[in-house]
Amino acid sequence: MQKILIVGAGFSGAVMARELAASNRYTILVAEERDHVAGNCHTRRDPETGIMEHVYGPHIFNTSNKVVWDYINRFGEFSPYINRVKAETNSGTYSFPINLHTINQLFHKNFNPREARKFVEELGEKKMGVPANFEEQALTLLGREIYENFLKSYTEKQWGCDPRQLPASVLKRLPVRFNYNDNYYNSQYQGIPTEGYTHIIQNLLNHPNITVKLNSKFTKGHEADFDYVFYTGPIDAYYGFAHGRLGYRTVYFERHVFDGEDYQGNAVINYCHDKVPYTRIHEHKHFMPHEKHPKSLYFKEFSKETQENDIPFYPKSLPHDRDLYGIYRSLALKEEKTSFLGRLATYRYLDMHHVIDEALQLAHKFINRKGDLRTFQKLSDSL
Ligand SMILES: Cc1cc2nc3c(=O)[nH]c(=O)nc-3n(C[C@H](O)[C@H](O)[C@H](O)COP(=O)(O)OP(=O)(O)OC[C@H]3O[C@@H](n4cnc5c(N)ncnc54)[C@H](O)[C@@H]3O)c2cc1C
Repeated sequence: MQKILIVGAGFSGAVMARELAASNRYTILVAEERDHVAGNCHTRRDPETGIMEHVYGPHIFNTSNKVVWDYINRFGEFSPYINRVKAETNSGTYSFPINLHTINQLFHKNFNPREARKFVEELGEKKMGVPANFEEQALTLLGREIYENFLKSYTEKQWGCDPRQLPASVLKRLPVRFNYNDNYYNSQYQGIPTEGYTHIIQNLLNHPNITVKLNSKFTKGHEADFDYVFYTGPIDAYYGFAHGRLGYRTVYFERHVFDGEDYQGNAVINYCHDKVPYTRIHEHKHFMPHEKHPKSLYFKEFSKETQENDIPFYPKSLPHDRDLYGIYRSLALKEEKTSFLGRLATYRYLDMHHVIDEALQLAHKFINRKGDLRTFQKLSDSL
């Protein structure tokens, strides 16, 4: 049996551990620096209200990948859930993402899909030429009324800067639907684990060939006792930030208990105006509408720059970040017995279904590999 070290017990590390363990060819140590498994998907029963709390922010499982959906359902039951977000703006509360209902409400119209598309196209400001920044891109695509109601203040809060300082590429596509579909996701399968995400990760890791060590921070050198390492932590931290820190936005939460059954009537409401400093409020009992609790638990979410001791959440991926990642990536490619996978090690925003898919693919490449371990694939971003 070869000895494998997996750094990190999020979905990336747990799926990789499970697949290698199931092949019965490896013994696996999973080292996790936090005092719990499941990484940012960690859930727990809030001791005060009994509500299932998504500790690092709300997580809705969604995918159109049947292999991933069938796989994850082996490790825990999912309850049906469709994410329908609302947006509070200076002119009222609307269905979000912007859809036909939103457009008709905002402009007091009764458009059909074709009329709405034509109307929004005509709202776009055409006089500016090639958009030079986020604001110009939004005005070109959507016009001032939609931009100022839904995007301007929200973007300022989320990014902590004037939208004119952000590249146009941040708003890649037209964020509008011309039908009444208010499902936040377009995925075929969607749900919330009935017993929470941590229960699923515990089941993934529950195998005689896997040992999990919590409160155990990996630093370079620990790999000496192992035949191979899969690292799912931040790639810049792996190299001691030798070339600088990759840019991330992070979020923090203000916890509230509401002494009543329902605080806001929905799981997630975005605050798109500047009257409040938070970007959204999530009320976690709405993720489990089949459960009954006399009180409610909700969180105000604030966005900020990532400091040294914060958990990195959203890669900023600005041009200088891409250059810096390129430097770390070329170092990673030279590693002899370490592969990098997951959202932090490959500096990408990835949903849960993406990291599960990539971990499954990389695990099977590893198990079925031919040739020298030194030539084995180093980064899951090149899958
Ligand atoms: C606020 C927020 C909301 C999200 N909502 C959704 C959603 O609704 N749906 C969805 O599909 N996805 C969502 N995501 C994305 C989801 O969280 C990620 O896809 C998933 O967590 C990635 O898993 P991972 O294992 O790659 O990373 P992580 O979950 O971050 O796991 C990495 C683990 O490595 C550990 N670690 C790091 N460095 C070390 C070290 N040196 N030594 C030991 N351990 C280490 C960390 O403690 C962590 O446990 C959301 C993300 C955020 C931030």
